[in-house]
Amino acid sequence: MAAVARKNLSTVGDALIQATGLAITVNGQPVALLGNLVDSHGDSPHNKATLPVGSLAATINGVAVVAEGHVASCVHVVEDGDPAMDIVPLLVGP
Ligand SMILES: [Zn+2]
Repeated sequence: MAAVARKNLSTVGDALIQATGLAITVNGQPVALLGNLVDSHGDSPHNKATLPVGSLAATINGVAVVAEGHVASCVHVVEDGDPAMDIVPLLVGP
């Protein structure tokens, strides 16, 4: 199981996942979804990182939810999830 990632709170390489796009909330903060953007946290590829994988076990309108341990496009790992929503981190993505 893996704690669900949330926009504006969970991190990738110490940068926040941006609060764009549709989402439900967990403890008042929208969950991170496949395709969400990450704030810039260094030179390329860390300046335009996205979340290219999510979990098949939890989707919102068909879009996979991202959890701790999923890897961003810059190869940094998603951290600081919220264990209030624990999901199976089955990978979906490229
Ligand atoms: Zn990075």
